[in-house]
Amino acid sequence: MPRPSGQHFLLSAKARTLSLAQVFGLTDAAAEEVFRGIRWADTEGNPVCPHCGCPICYECRRPSGASRWRCKACRKDFSVTSGTLFASHKLPLRIYLAAIVIFVNEVKGKSALALGRDLGVQYKTAFVLAHKLREAMAIEARENRLGGEGTVTEIDGAYFGGHVRPENLKKDRKDLRRTENRSGKRRCVVVVRERQGRSLARSFATEDAATGFIRAHVARGGVMHADEASSWNRLHAHYDLRRVNHIHGYSIDGACTNQAESWFSRLRRAEIGIHHHISGDYLDRYAQEAAFREDNRRQPNGELFRLVTSLVCATKPSIDFCGYWQRAQLAGKGA
Ligand SMILES: [Zn+2]
Repeated sequence: MPRPSGQHFLLSAKARTLSLAQVFGLTDAAAEEVFRGIRWADTEGNPVCPHCGCPICYECRRPSGASRWRCKACRKDFSVTSGTLFASHKLPLRIYLAAIVIFVNEVKGKSALALGRDLGVQYKTAFVLAHKLREAMAIEARENRLGGEGTVTEIDGAYFGGHVRPENLKKDRKDLRRTENRSGKRRCVVVVRERQGRSLARSFATEDAATGFIRAHVARGGVMHADEASSWNRLHAHYDLRRVNHIHGYSIDGACTNQAESWFSRLRRAEIGIHHHISGDYLDRYAQEAAFREDNRRQPNGELFRLVTSLVCATKPSIDFCGYWQRAQLAGKGA
């Protein structure tokens, strides 16, 4: 596909519509106003009760100055972040907004340690914050439905995690291709990427296990491209599937999966260069974050900030990450 001529989007002024300095310069009141404007965009920043949806709420701030409203209908209290992913926040709102800017400014991802250093908070705080932002990004990526008449999609899979370090001496080394010598943490990320469209990613134990997921999320009627892996054979019954054998070339007879491959290139660089370990329980989150970043790569950073903040507002308090370290501590004590 021909590239648009001229300057790369990320080099243009249009890509930079919000700076970190602007966010760190916000007063508490201004940060609250920014958050309110995005959370309650329909009512121009006027609070709406998260419990019952009533738009008539009385302001009754805490003595500390922290936000609090009381709903006229249900009489319940709520703050600017109640009912969102940032519920029960401990740090100033400005720090959370700054975290979003830092997070969206990175192209391949942000490590929790670096985020902690940027914000001046503990690693644990940054770790949970980064995962909450991934959770918000995942909402958008998870809703994607691809395929259908006139579309062209590409599918591919790649394995992540579960690295086993080989022994020092050759005589002690095991054959790491054998299942019994692996760590069991290795998982396959499968991506479906629509040309000129969105992408969808999920992790599975093997590439074979992804067939049901693909059928559930990709409508029939379009053309699908896949490589020579036997895992995709079953999809021939459901889609107009074009295959390319990578032993012979990257693009043969119009079949190619280069866009799916390039999607993996970004996730692989995030693994190698940023996070180092993205295996195990949170692989799905990293994959969905990568899908979000890829799909929104041509958005100005101010727009990305607004998008992620509105996703944070639309997301209920995190089940996985609300009180994450406190629960880990209790589990450690055997409670
Ligand atoms: Zn209410």
